[in-house]
Amino acid sequence: SRLLLDSSIDVPNMIATLSELVEQANGYHGRVFIVDDDRLLAEHYALVLNSVGIETRIMQNVRNIVHELLSFQPDLVLMDIYMPDYSGTELAGVLRQYQSLKRLPIVFLSSEANKFLQIKAMAQGADDFLTKPIADAELAQAIKVRLRRSLQIRQLIEKDGLTALIKHSAIKEVAALELERAERSGKPLSVVMLDIDFFKSVNDRYGHATGDIVITALATMLRKRIRKTDKAGRYGGEEFMLVLPDCSSEQARQLTAQILQAFRQLQFSAAEQLFQCSFSAGVASTSDSSYANADLLIAAADTALYQAKQAGRDRVC
Ligand code: GH3
Ligand code: MG
Ligand code: MG
Repeated sequence: SRLLLDSSIDVPNMIATLSELVEQANGYHGRVFIVDDDRLLAEHYALVLNSVGIETRIMQNVRNIVHELLSFQPDLVLMDIYMPDYSGTELAGVLRQYQSLKRLPIVFLSSEANKFLQIKAMAQGADDFLTKPIADAELAQAIKVRLRRSLQIRQLIEKDGLTALIKHSAIKEVAALELERAERSGKPLSVVMLDIDFFKSVNDRYGHATGDIVITALATMLRKRIRKTDKAGRYGGEEFMLVLPDCSSEQARQLTAQILQAFRQLQFSAAEQLFQCSFSAGVASTSDSSYANADLLIAAADTALYQAKQAGRDRVC
Protein backbone atom coordinates (compact mmCIF):
# COMPACT_ATOMS: atom_id res chain seq x y z
CA SER A 1 0.00 0.00 0.00
CA ARG A 2 1.12 3.51 -0.66
CA LEU A 3 0.24 6.76 1.04
CA LEU A 4 0.10 9.67 -1.39
CA LEU A 5 0.67 13.12 -0.02
CA ASP A 6 -0.98 16.31 -1.09
CA SER A 7 0.27 19.20 0.99
CA SER A 8 -3.11 20.95 0.77
CA ILE A 9 -4.78 18.19 2.81
CA ASP A 10 -4.34 17.98 6.56
CA VAL A 11 -4.20 14.17 6.61
CA PRO A 12 -3.72 13.64 10.36
CA ASN A 13 -6.63 15.91 11.18
CA MET A 14 -8.76 14.22 8.55
CA ILE A 15 -8.01 10.77 9.99
CA ALA A 16 -8.84 11.94 13.51
CA THR A 17 -12.17 13.41 12.35
CA LEU A 18 -13.01 10.29 10.37
CA SER A 19 -12.32 8.00 13.32
CA GLU A 20 -14.63 10.11 15.48
CA LEU A 21 -17.36 9.86 12.86
CA VAL A 22 -16.89 6.09 12.62
CA GLU A 23 -17.35 5.76 16.38
CA GLN A 24 -20.60 7.74 16.17
CA ALA A 25 -21.83 5.78 13.17
CA ASN A 26 -21.15 2.52 15.01
CA GLY A 27 -24.12 3.55 17.14
CA TYR A 28 -22.27 3.77 20.42
CA HIS A 29 -24.50 5.80 22.71
CA GLY A 30 -22.77 4.92 25.94
CA ARG A 31 -23.22 2.67 28.96
CA VAL A 32 -25.23 3.45 32.07
CA PHE A 33 -24.93 1.65 35.41
CA ILE A 34 -28.22 1.76 37.35
CA VAL A 35 -28.35 1.75 41.15
CA ASP A 36 -31.82 1.43 42.68
CA ASP A 37 -32.96 -0.80 45.52
CA ASP A 38 -36.31 -1.16 43.75
CA ARG A 39 -35.48 -3.96 41.32
CA LEU A 40 -38.60 -3.53 39.15
CA LEU A 41 -38.03 0.20 38.82
CA ALA A 42 -34.37 -0.38 37.90
CA GLU A 43 -35.43 -2.86 35.24
CA HIS A 44 -37.90 -0.35 33.91
CA TYR A 45 -35.22 2.37 33.65
CA ALA A 46 -33.01 -0.15 31.84
CA LEU A 47 -35.70 -0.91 29.28
CA VAL A 48 -36.33 2.79 28.67
CA LEU A 49 -32.63 3.49 28.12
CA ASN A 50 -32.11 0.36 26.00
CA SER A 51 -34.91 1.54 23.72
CA VAL A 52 -32.80 4.57 22.74
CA GLY A 53 -29.64 2.49 22.18
CA ILE A 54 -28.00 2.94 25.58
CA GLU A 55 -26.41 -0.15 27.14
CA THR A 56 -27.27 -0.71 30.80
CA ARG A 57 -26.37 -2.85 33.76
CA ILE A 58 -28.24 -2.94 37.06
CA MET A 59 -26.30 -3.16 40.31
CA GLN A 60 -26.56 -6.69 41.67
CA ASN A 61 -24.98 -6.39 45.09
CA VAL A 62 -23.99 -3.21 46.88
CA ARG A 63 -20.98 -4.94 48.48
CA ASN A 64 -19.68 -5.70 45.03
CA ILE A 65 -20.39 -2.31 43.48
CA VAL A 66 -16.75 -1.38 42.80
CA HIS A 67 -16.08 -4.70 41.09
CA GLU A 68 -19.29 -4.42 39.05
CA LEU A 69 -18.36 -0.89 37.94
CA LEU A 70 -14.81 -1.89 37.01
CA SER A 71 -16.07 -4.78 34.91
CA PHE A 72 -18.87 -2.86 33.16
CA GLN A 73 -16.95 0.40 32.65
CA PRO A 74 -19.99 2.67 32.38
CA ASP A 75 -19.95 6.21 31.01
CA LEU A 76 -22.50 7.35 33.61
CA VAL A 77 -24.11 6.13 36.83
CA LEU A 78 -27.83 6.66 37.42
CA MET A 79 -28.44 6.35 41.15
CA ASP A 80 -31.46 6.61 43.40
CA ILE A 81 -30.59 9.08 46.14
CA TYR A 82 -32.78 7.53 48.81
CA MET A 83 -32.54 3.80 49.41
CA PRO A 84 -33.61 2.34 52.78
CA ASP A 85 -30.50 0.23 53.42
CA TYR A 86 -27.77 2.56 52.20
CA SER A 87 -27.74 6.09 50.84
CA GLY A 88 -26.81 7.17 47.34
CA THR A 89 -24.64 9.96 48.72
CA GLU A 90 -22.56 7.51 50.77
CA LEU A 91 -22.13 5.22 47.77
CA ALA A 92 -21.00 8.19 45.68
CA GLY A 93 -18.47 9.05 48.37
CA VAL A 94 -17.09 5.50 48.24
CA LEU A 95 -16.76 5.56 44.44
CA ARG A 96 -14.91 8.87 44.48
CA GLN A 97 -12.14 7.23 46.49
CA TYR A 98 -11.17 5.08 43.51
CA GLN A 99 -8.82 6.77 41.07
CA SER A 100 -10.39 5.15 38.04
CA LEU A 101 -13.93 6.11 39.12
CA LYS A 102 -13.23 9.72 40.14
CA ARG A 103 -14.42 11.27 36.89
CA LEU A 104 -17.40 8.98 36.35
CA PRO A 105 -20.53 11.20 36.15
CA ILE A 106 -23.20 10.35 38.71
CA VAL A 107 -26.79 11.44 38.10
CA PHE A 108 -29.08 11.15 41.10
CA LEU A 109 -32.77 10.43 40.98
CA SER A 110 -34.45 12.24 43.82
CA SER A 111 -37.94 13.35 44.78
CA GLU A 112 -38.80 16.89 45.79
CA ALA A 113 -38.89 15.69 49.41
CA ASN A 114 -35.16 14.90 49.22
CA LYS A 115 -33.96 18.52 49.10
CA PHE A 116 -31.69 18.08 52.12
CA LEU A 117 -30.16 14.91 50.64
CA GLN A 118 -29.59 16.76 47.35
CA ILE A 119 -27.40 19.35 49.06
CA LYS A 120 -25.45 16.62 50.80
CA ALA A 121 -25.07 14.77 47.52
CA MET A 122 -23.64 17.83 45.82
CA ALA A 123 -20.89 17.97 48.43
CA GLN A 124 -20.14 14.29 47.73
CA GLY A 125 -19.55 14.95 44.06
CA ALA A 126 -22.94 14.44 42.43
CA ASP A 127 -22.98 15.77 38.90
CA ASP A 128 -26.67 16.18 38.30
CA PHE A 129 -30.19 15.51 39.58
CA LEU A 130 -33.35 14.23 37.97
CA THR A 131 -36.59 14.58 39.86
CA LYS A 132 -38.77 11.54 40.48
CA PRO A 133 -41.27 10.52 39.32
CA ILE A 134 -39.98 10.98 35.79
CA ALA A 135 -41.72 10.19 32.50
CA ASP A 136 -40.00 7.59 30.28
CA ALA A 137 -39.37 9.95 27.37
CA GLU A 138 -37.99 12.59 29.71
CA LEU A 139 -35.60 10.10 31.35
CA ALA A 140 -34.35 8.84 27.98
CA GLN A 141 -33.81 12.36 26.68
CA ALA A 142 -32.12 13.63 29.85
CA ILE A 143 -29.68 10.71 30.03
CA LYS A 144 -28.92 10.87 26.30
CA VAL A 145 -28.01 14.55 26.51
CA ARG A 146 -25.83 14.03 29.59
CA LEU A 147 -24.11 11.00 28.06
CA ARG A 148 -23.32 12.85 24.85
CA ARG A 149 -21.86 15.77 26.78
CA SER A 150 -19.83 13.51 29.04
CA LEU A 151 -18.47 11.51 26.06
CA GLN A 152 -17.52 14.77 24.30
CA ILE A 153 -15.71 16.11 27.34
CA ARG A 154 -13.90 12.82 27.78
CA GLN A 155 -12.87 12.88 24.14
CA LEU A 156 -11.35 16.34 24.70
CA ILE A 157 -9.58 15.39 27.92
CA GLU A 158 -8.38 11.94 26.97
CA LYS A 159 -7.81 11.86 23.22
CA ASP A 160 -4.67 13.00 21.47
CA GLY A 161 -5.43 15.55 18.73
CA LEU A 162 -3.04 14.18 16.08
CA THR A 163 -3.84 10.48 16.34
CA ALA A 164 -7.20 10.31 18.17
CA LEU A 165 -5.56 7.73 20.45
CA ILE A 166 -5.72 7.95 24.24
CA LYS A 167 -3.27 10.47 25.71
CA HIS A 168 -0.32 9.72 27.99
CA SER A 169 -2.03 10.23 31.37
CA ALA A 170 -5.25 8.49 30.31
CA ILE A 171 -3.50 5.39 28.91
CA LYS A 172 -1.61 5.07 32.19
CA GLU A 173 -4.98 5.18 34.00
CA VAL A 174 -6.25 2.47 31.63
CA ALA A 175 -3.22 0.30 32.49
CA ALA A 176 -3.89 0.76 36.23
CA LEU A 177 -7.58 -0.09 35.80
CA GLU A 178 -6.81 -3.17 33.70
CA LEU A 179 -4.23 -4.39 36.21
CA GLU A 180 -6.90 -4.16 38.96
CA ARG A 181 -9.29 -6.11 36.74
CA ALA A 182 -6.65 -8.69 35.78
CA GLU A 183 -5.87 -9.33 39.45
CA ARG A 184 -9.57 -9.91 40.16
CA SER A 185 -10.18 -12.12 37.11
CA GLY A 186 -6.89 -14.06 37.29
CA LYS A 187 -6.35 -13.49 33.55
CA PRO A 188 -2.99 -12.23 32.22
CA LEU A 189 -2.47 -8.61 31.19
CA SER A 190 0.19 -7.49 28.73
CA VAL A 191 1.55 -4.03 28.04
CA VAL A 192 3.54 -3.14 24.92
CA MET A 193 5.68 -0.04 24.40
CA LEU A 194 6.51 0.90 20.80
CA ASP A 195 8.88 3.58 19.52
CA ILE A 196 9.50 4.44 15.86
CA ASP A 197 13.10 3.83 14.76
CA PHE A 198 15.33 6.72 13.67
CA PHE A 199 12.36 9.03 13.59
CA LYS A 200 14.50 12.12 13.92
CA SER A 201 15.96 11.44 10.50
CA VAL A 202 12.43 11.17 8.99
CA ASN A 203 11.73 14.68 10.30
CA ASP A 204 15.11 15.94 9.17
CA ARG A 205 14.88 14.49 5.67
CA TYR A 206 11.20 14.96 4.83
CA GLY A 207 9.93 17.58 7.27
CA HIS A 208 7.79 17.60 10.37
CA ALA A 209 4.48 17.34 8.45
CA THR A 210 5.61 14.09 6.85
CA GLY A 211 6.73 12.87 10.28
CA ASP A 212 3.19 13.55 11.51
CA ILE A 213 1.79 11.38 8.74
CA VAL A 214 4.04 8.48 9.74
CA ILE A 215 2.85 8.85 13.36
CA THR A 216 -0.79 8.94 12.25
CA ALA A 217 -0.33 5.92 9.98
CA LEU A 218 1.06 3.84 12.84
CA ALA A 219 -1.73 5.05 15.15
CA THR A 220 -4.37 4.02 12.61
CA MET A 221 -2.72 0.65 12.15
CA LEU A 222 -2.62 0.04 15.92
CA ARG A 223 -6.29 0.97 16.26
CA LYS A 224 -7.31 -1.32 13.41
CA ARG A 225 -5.34 -4.36 14.51
CA ILE A 226 -6.23 -4.60 18.19
CA ARG A 227 -9.34 -6.16 19.72
CA LYS A 228 -12.26 -4.11 21.01
CA THR A 229 -11.19 -4.64 24.61
CA ASP A 230 -7.56 -3.63 23.92
CA LYS A 231 -6.48 0.00 24.23
CA ALA A 232 -3.88 1.96 22.31
CA GLY A 233 -2.40 5.21 23.57
CA ARG A 234 0.08 7.80 22.37
CA TYR A 235 2.62 7.69 25.16
CA GLY A 236 4.99 10.31 23.78
CA GLY A 237 5.92 11.98 20.49
CA GLU A 238 6.50 8.83 18.43
CA GLU A 239 6.05 6.39 21.28
CA PHE A 240 2.92 4.30 21.75
CA MET A 241 1.52 1.99 24.40
CA LEU A 242 -0.83 -0.97 24.01
CA VAL A 243 -2.80 -2.35 26.96
CA LEU A 244 -3.93 -5.90 26.19
CA PRO A 245 -6.24 -7.63 28.71
CA ASP A 246 -6.57 -11.42 28.72
CA CYS A 247 -3.38 -11.70 26.65
CA SER A 248 -0.19 -13.60 27.48
CA SER A 249 3.29 -12.27 26.69
CA GLU A 250 3.59 -14.73 23.80
CA GLN A 251 0.29 -13.57 22.26
CA ALA A 252 1.31 -9.93 22.77
CA ARG A 253 4.66 -10.61 21.10
CA GLN A 254 2.97 -12.26 18.11
CA LEU A 255 0.45 -9.45 17.69
CA THR A 256 3.17 -6.80 17.88
CA ALA A 257 5.38 -8.69 15.41
CA GLN A 258 2.46 -8.81 12.94
CA ILE A 259 1.88 -5.08 13.30
CA LEU A 260 5.60 -4.44 12.82
CA GLN A 261 5.61 -6.49 9.63
CA ALA A 262 2.65 -4.54 8.25
CA PHE A 263 4.12 -1.18 9.29
CA ARG A 264 7.44 -1.96 7.60
CA GLN A 265 5.61 -2.56 4.33
CA LEU A 266 3.90 0.84 4.28
CA GLN A 267 5.35 3.02 1.56
CA PHE A 268 5.45 6.69 2.44
CA SER A 269 6.19 9.28 -0.16
CA ALA A 270 7.60 12.77 0.25
CA ALA A 271 9.70 15.06 -1.88
CA GLU A 272 9.25 12.58 -4.74
CA GLN A 273 10.94 9.87 -2.75
CA LEU A 274 9.56 6.68 -1.28
CA PHE A 275 10.59 5.57 2.15
CA GLN A 276 9.70 3.01 4.80
CA CYS A 277 9.87 2.95 8.59
CA SER A 278 10.11 0.41 11.37
CA PHE A 279 9.62 0.44 15.11
CA SER A 280 11.05 -1.31 18.15
CA ALA A 281 8.80 -2.73 20.85
CA GLY A 282 9.00 -4.11 24.37
CA VAL A 283 6.46 -6.48 25.93
CA ALA A 284 5.81 -6.98 29.64
CA SER A 285 3.15 -9.31 30.97
CA THR A 286 1.69 -10.53 34.23
CA SER A 287 1.94 -14.00 32.64
CA ASP A 288 5.74 -13.82 33.18
CA SER A 289 6.05 -12.14 36.56
CA SER A 290 3.86 -10.28 39.01
CA TYR A 291 3.83 -6.51 39.26
CA ALA A 292 2.73 -4.63 42.36
CA ASN A 293 1.40 -1.71 40.32
CA ALA A 294 0.91 -0.48 36.76
CA ASP A 295 3.96 1.81 36.89
CA LEU A 296 6.19 -1.23 37.41
CA LEU A 297 4.54 -3.11 34.55
CA ILE A 298 5.02 -0.10 32.25
CA ALA A 299 8.64 0.26 33.41
CA ALA A 300 9.26 -3.39 32.53
CA ALA A 301 7.85 -2.85 29.02
CA ASP A 302 10.07 0.22 28.72
CA THR A 303 13.14 -1.81 29.68
CA ALA A 304 12.25 -4.42 27.04
CA LEU A 305 11.88 -1.61 24.48
CA TYR A 306 15.33 -0.34 25.40
CA GLN A 307 16.69 -3.86 24.84
CA ALA A 308 15.05 -3.99 21.41
CA LYS A 309 16.73 -0.67 20.50
CA GLN A 310 20.10 -1.89 21.79
CA ALA A 311 19.81 -5.17 19.88
CA GLY A 312 19.56 -3.27 16.59
CA ARG A 313 15.95 -1.95 16.43
CA ASP A 314 13.15 -3.20 14.12
CA ARG A 315 12.19 -6.00 16.53
CA VAL A 316 10.05 -7.01 19.53
CA CYS A 317 11.65 -7.96 22.87
P1 GH3 B 1 15.38 5.75 18.07
O1 GH3 B 1 15.42 4.70 17.01
O2 GH3 B 1 16.46 5.58 19.07
O3 GH3 B 1 14.03 5.84 18.71
O4 GH3 B 1 15.69 7.11 17.31
P2 GH3 B 1 14.75 8.37 17.13
O5 GH3 B 1 15.35 9.22 16.07
O6 GH3 B 1 13.36 7.95 16.91
O7 GH3 B 1 14.99 9.06 18.52
P3 GH3 B 1 14.02 9.78 19.51
O8 GH3 B 1 12.97 8.85 20.01
O9 GH3 B 1 14.88 10.39 20.56
O10 GH3 B 1 13.41 10.95 18.64
C1 GH3 B 1 12.07 11.21 18.57
C2 GH3 B 1 11.86 12.40 17.69
O11 GH3 B 1 10.49 12.53 17.39
C3 GH3 B 1 12.24 13.70 18.36
C4 GH3 B 1 11.12 14.66 18.00
O12 GH3 B 1 11.62 15.75 17.25
C5 GH3 B 1 10.19 13.87 17.14
N1 GH3 B 1 8.81 14.12 17.45
C6 GH3 B 1 8.22 14.03 18.68
N2 GH3 B 1 6.89 14.30 18.56
C7 GH3 B 1 6.65 14.55 17.26
C8 GH3 B 1 5.46 14.88 16.52
O13 GH3 B 1 4.34 14.99 17.06
N3 GH3 B 1 5.57 15.05 15.18
C9 GH3 B 1 6.77 14.92 14.55
N4 GH3 B 1 6.81 15.09 13.22
N5 GH3 B 1 7.90 14.62 15.21
C10 GH3 B 1 7.85 14.43 16.55
MG1 MG C 1 12.28 6.77 18.19
MG1 MG D 1 11.17 8.26 21.24
